[in-house]
Amino acid sequence: VDLVKNYYMGTQTVHVLKGLNLSFDEGDFIALMGPSGSGKSTLLNILGCLDRPTSGRYYLAGMDVSQMDDDQLSEIRSSYLGFIFQSYNLLPQYTVVENIELPLLYQGVRLDERTRQHCIALAEMVGLGDRLDHRPLQLSGGQQQRVAIARSLVNNPHLILGDEPTGNLDTRTSIEIMQMLRELNRLGKTIIMVTHENDIAAWARRVVRLRDGRVESDTRNDSRTVVELHA
Ligand code: ATP
Ligand code: MG
Repeated sequence: VDLVKNYYMGTQTVHVLKGLNLSFDEGDFIALMGPSGSGKSTLLNILGCLDRPTSGRYYLAGMDVSQMDDDQLSEIRSSYLGFIFQSYNLLPQYTVVENIELPLLYQGVRLDERTRQHCIALAEMVGLGDRLDHRPLQLSGGQQQRVAIARSLVNNPHLILGDEPTGNLDTRTSIEIMQMLRELNRLGKTIIMVTHENDIAAWARRVVRLRDGRVESDTRNDSRTVVELHA
């Protein structure tokens, strides 16, 4: 609600979000679009509790997260949120399963046979059951992104945030990833992802365009059109 985000650099203030209003519901699947520099990543960082707005309020599951301290934000991140990035952010020295386990490790969860089985099940879910001990460099871009998707699910998050998750992938692989995100959405996950491409945005249920720090348009995709586009 009325989100404002300024970045302060020395004497200079960069006004990025200028009173942005957006609400989303459980089960939404939103593609965030807009020109470079319009504030998409800035907004995503706020929605992902990685950063706080300069002013304005952000309510998540009825909680005002804009007023929380760092510990509370990190608690929200580990209990509510999953992240997928353009560059996958996998650690090269770790295997597929170990990469999926990473968020648990960071949160101080004790890794045991049960968490291991959970991570293996997630790897299987994204079609990497036969790649458990591979390392990222031994995988294709699409497979690496699937590891990142599995990792984003490790906490059973309500909301999954993606900053150009298909940005480094070819068209065919991007479609594969979008099919996977759609399926997760169908299973009840709320998804908000940034993309520059209309063909990718067509897979979402809603397309929100930012311009100049505000929402320029907010449209609902007709699911039939999407099916036709990708039939
Ligand atoms: P792109 O499509 O290129 O990824 P974007 O819509 O994601 O763009 P943001 O990364 O949110 O844009 O950046 C919005 C504006 O905020 C830009 O002018 C950028 O230079 C500025 N900005 C972003 N992060 C910072 C920061 N940490 N410090 C200072 N300015 C920043
Ligand atoms: Mg960005």
